[in-house]
Amino acid sequence: MKDNSGGHTGDRDSKTATTFTDAPDATGGHSFDSTESSEFSGTEALVKLRNVQKYYPIHSGILKRHTSDVKAVDGVSFDIWQGETFGLVGESGCGKSTLGKTVLHLLEPTGGEVIFNGINLASLSSAKLRERRRNIQMIFQDPASSLNPRMSVEQLIEEPMTSLTEWPKERRKKRVRELIQEVGLSIDHLPRRPHEFSGGQQQRVAIARALSVNPQFIIADEPTSALDVSVQAKILNLLKDLQVEYDLTFLFISHDLSVIRNFCDRVAVMYLGEIAEVAPTEVLFNRPKHPYTKALLSSVPTMDGLQEDRIQLEGDVPSPENPPSGCRYHTRCQEYIGPVCEDESPELKLVDAAQVCACHHYE
Ligand code: ADP
Ligand code: MG
Repeated sequence: MKDNSGGHTGDRDSKTATTFTDAPDATGGHSFDSTESSEFSGTEALVKLRNVQKYYPIHSGILKRHTSDVKAVDGVSFDIWQGETFGLVGESGCGKSTLGKTVLHLLEPTGGEVIFNGINLASLSSAKLRERRRNIQMIFQDPASSLNPRMSVEQLIEEPMTSLTEWPKERRKKRVRELIQEVGLSIDHLPRRPHEFSGGQQQRVAIARALSVNPQFIIADEPTSALDVSVQAKILNLLKDLQVEYDLTFLFISHDLSVIRNFCDRVAVMYLGEIAEVAPTEVLFNRPKHPYTKALLSSVPTMDGLQEDRIQLEGDVPSPENPPSGCRYHTRCQEYIGPVCEDESPELKLVDAAQVCACHHYE
């Protein structure tokens, strides 16, 4: 991994961890060392999630009373290590995007903590949070809607630097010219507007924007899902190259298992707002432990069509407004063992080296 202080990343404040002295004890009792056999063992966690919740209130009746909540994210804890690509996978609607936005505090968590570089983001004033945001950037699925159509590419790439840094104009302009080339576009593209570009090119502009302020951590929410398959690989390769060059840490969100397998070092599997399993990518794909992970993996077609011993995911995903009791997967589980599955919520436990799983089979 390239030295953090080199070239482009020089402005990133490595003093972050010492700037604030009110960093809480981040271990919170939930810490499981799921990296002992990975290349990241011994590295500090850059991001720690502790029991993070995000509920969307539902108001109903004539008085629009708060009657219940969509429990989109309900008690998520994991660590993301400096320099790794941490994947988050699960069916549509399981809470991936909500979790991504909550980590960045674009959505305020209903409960729990996000600790970034030793600092609890909730403890920051809005001004300090804005300052901190410079270090955390997000890339969205649909580049067309994340880029203001009235701005030129040059303005788009410069804008985060204008709003989040004190850099003088010459420095910003120089950085724009460097970045446009680094993401595989050219200086000639700078005066143009987003609609003149293909989806892949627009995503390159969005990536340049995210990188402009020298972030440490990037949350990429389905960054290639809206793109043609031929373009997907190119964008993923670009992200990989930039990761090495800028020493980036990624939270990579996708519903696409093959993209996750190609791109991520470790993976968390999410089901109905909770984490079912976390493991290094190859361990997860070769030795899945959670029944939901097994079902999810077996739904992926192989070279010769669908797998023979395929596990059928039964029924629809239950509503996050009224999730099943106990283990949320019990209504669809192919390995249901009895009342304990309906009565008790299983905790994430270390089941194998570097692999944690929340299932009563492993209690
Ligand atoms: P994913 O990204 O995994 O598809 P989301 O985080 O988008 O999942 O959504 C999780 C759940 O929260 C879904 O049931 C979705 O309908 C609900 N949801 C998402 N955004 C909102 C919102 N702004 N208000 C109410 N419910 C929402
Ligand atoms: Mg989503």
